[in-house]
Amino acid sequence: MPRFHQRRRKLARAVHAEGADAALITNFTNVTYLTGFTGDDSYLLVGPDIELIVSDGRYTEQLQGECPGLDVVERPPGTSIVPTVARAVKKARLANLAVESQSMTLALHGALEAELPKVALVPSEGWVERMRAIKDKAEIAEIRRAVALAEKAFQVIRAALVPEQTERAIAFELENQIRRFGGAGCGFPPIVAMGARAALPHAHPDNHTVSDSKMLLIDWGATAHLYRSDLTRVLVTGRISPKFQRIYNVVLQAQQKAIAAIQPGAMVNDIDAVARGIITRAGYGKRFGHGLGHGFGLEIHEPPWLTSDVKRNRPLRAGMVVTVEPGIYLPGQGGVRIEDDILVTRDGHEVLSHLPKELEDCVVR
Ligand code: ZN
Ligand code: ZN
Repeated sequence: MPRFHQRRRKLARAVHAEGADAALITNFTNVTYLTGFTGDDSYLLVGPDIELIVSDGRYTEQLQGECPGLDVVERPPGTSIVPTVARAVKKARLANLAVESQSMTLALHGALEAELPKVALVPSEGWVERMRAIKDKAEIAEIRRAVALAEKAFQVIRAALVPEQTERAIAFELENQIRRFGGAGCGFPPIVAMGARAALPHAHPDNHTVSDSKMLLIDWGATAHLYRSDLTRVLVTGRISPKFQRIYNVVLQAQQKAIAAIQPGAMVNDIDAVARGIITRAGYGKRFGHGLGHGFGLEIHEPPWLTSDVKRNRPLRAGMVVTVEPGIYLPGQGGVRIEDDILVTRDGHEVLSHLPKELEDCVVR
């Protein structure tokens, strides 16, 4: 798997540039990104002169299949992983070990310190996450598959919608359809919110039925193999009120204008401001209480963030994949959010998701 090897070499160069002897990767998603290994409970040591994964006997065969050529050290049964990691660090004579401060627990840090009193544990932040933010061809191809799976599942749900269906049944059916089309499952627990419940941006599906209200919001995505997609559409089953119509069109315009502004070099704060400006000028600024979008891939939320947070401001780069999902939420009445998946290309952007989203497309007869 040359692409995993390339990623590890790139990380090793960063480790070296920062003056560490190696990085101990303990975040399992980052381990997957760097090795292709899909199990857990395994840590990776990467540096200019070392590349090995510490795992256990359950994964012997899987490791051979998923990461051929990568050195594996198995911890003995009945022991914790830390002493085995410590032995590998001592054997390689590493003096400075970069650790992932965003995901390492205090307990793990303490245990490593106790086993390795002479080794400096240097906190590092976001090295692998920064690499993950730029997707390569294979990653983009899988994200396209994840988008297609989510769209097919939605079309089945939409065509088969019946009044007595509950939010939970729709969520279950999304999972079911994604798997029937060959996906691994939903990319995250779907949000299916009827009527006023759509005002809760993260509503958990419950037993409200389609017949309880005139609209529903569905926020769902698929996992193809490891990579995900993330979409939101609103469906209307009754007469469209002028107020809904107005809100919907404001959100749609905000989304389309923000998408149009996506290109390499564009700052994430500015993209967020395009959508937020349109919603604010329409009088709903206070009703759009979250960021405009986020990166996704191995995780459903990962950098970059399309946000108004100046501390997270950074330029978009080709190969990033982001959602654009403005919303307006009216407590007690309902909410509208429209979400699509966008790839930043060398000369602009490509919208990866294609489900129709004009106002008339929301209406289910
Ligand atoms: Zn979503
Ligand atoms: Zn999202």
